[in-house]
Amino acid sequence: MKKIYTHENIFIVHNIKNIIEAQGIEIFMKNEFAPGVIGEISAFDAWPEIWILHDNDEEKTKAIIASATQVKNTIDWLCKHCNETNDPSFDICWQCQQARD
Ligand SMILES: [Zn+2]
Repeated sequence: MKKIYTHENIFIVHNIKNIIEAQGIEIFMKNEFAPGVIGEISAFDAWPEIWILHDNDEEKTKAIIASATQVKNTIDWLCKHCNETNDPSFDICWQCQQARD
């Protein structure tokens, strides 16, 4: 098992998780519900983390994350399905998982 990704924003981490899982890679999350305990431990330790179950998925997973987090433009986009504002790095809506047009 290896930690493959972490970010302070749980929505970004969930988005990455969805993208990785869509590729059939087995992963699990740590600190998914940690924001509630910030204050008892350092904020950085509480960042949600994505771990891969199989170390041999590392290269493939890193490539997926790299392409998923590559900023294609710098403007937030509106989901046409649920009207939610999304970070430009997202390819799918963090709220409803609809693909970006
Ligand atoms: Zn949406």
